Amino acid sequence: MHELPVISRVIDVCVRHARQNNARRILKIELQVGPFSDLEAEWMQRYFDHISKTTLAAGARLEIEKLPLIFRCAGCEHEFEVPLPDNGAAGAGLPEIICPECGGADCSCIAEKGYRIGNMEII
Ligand SMILES: [Zn+2]
Repeated sequence: MHELPVISRVIDVCVRHARQNNARRILKIELQVGPFSDLEAEWMQRYFDHISKTTLAAGARLEIEKLPLIFRCAGCEHEFEVPLPDNGAAGAGLPEIICPECGGADCSCIAEKGYRIGNMEII
């Protein structure tokens, strides 16, 4: 159920943005979620359809994009992306993370659990 407050906030932000741009409708909203986010695309769209009904965003398509894992090396502070494991179980069964710059193994994940709004299409 925690998708609900996220979605209602996304709609607020997008509708405000659309109004500022004198848009009549929002067609598509791209939502980027962190690799550890457990927001479910199916529920997101379902809630979205429900809440956006009376807004400029009614009928808009919600596109969910998973952001990559970002690690930072404690040795040289280099930040790099690590591809998500195929099984989608982020955080479990990751290979050992080695810094591509200095070869250090003391790397920690800095990707956040949150989400952010990417592009949106308005008319
Ligand atoms: Zn390093």
